[in-house]
Amino acid sequence: MDCIFCKIAQKEIPAEVIYEDDKLLAFKDISPAAPVHILFIPKEHIESANFLDDKHKDLIGHIFLKIKEIAEKLNIEDKGYRIVNNCGEFGGQTVNHLHFHLIAGRQMQWPPG
Ligand code: 5GP
Ligand code: ZN
Repeated sequence: MDCIFCKIAQKEIPAEVIYEDDKLLAFKDISPAAPVHILFIPKEHIESANFLDDKHKDLIGHIFLKIKEIAEKLNIEDKGYRIVNNCGEFGGQTVNHLHFHLIAGRQMQWPPG
């Protein structure tokens, strides 16, 4: 499959890995939008949040708890951070493999553009 994040998960393309286990991979975004910008992906190829169903409940819970754990390890939990999932064309999704952005290290604005 021609999916860049599957290739990163399979180590066919290099990335700066922050955390890895059998279900997920966390790595630095190649084009950071803030001092901290980490992508969390399931190793399983899921196109987007639109493709989630009941069988993914544990996986999504695992990813969110891991985001929180990494935020604590990086000492960004006091100042706060943003978790983002872009879904589909209008959501601004550019890589069609489900991922969550962890962005921190500067004041965020709301609403996003
Ligand atoms: P999206 O716009 O789909 O929510 O986010 C995709 C993110 O993946 C973007 O922030 C982009 O910078 C990042 N990205 C795209 N290609 C690569 C890559 O090859 N390596 C890494 N580390 N990040 C990538
Ligand atoms: Zn994929």
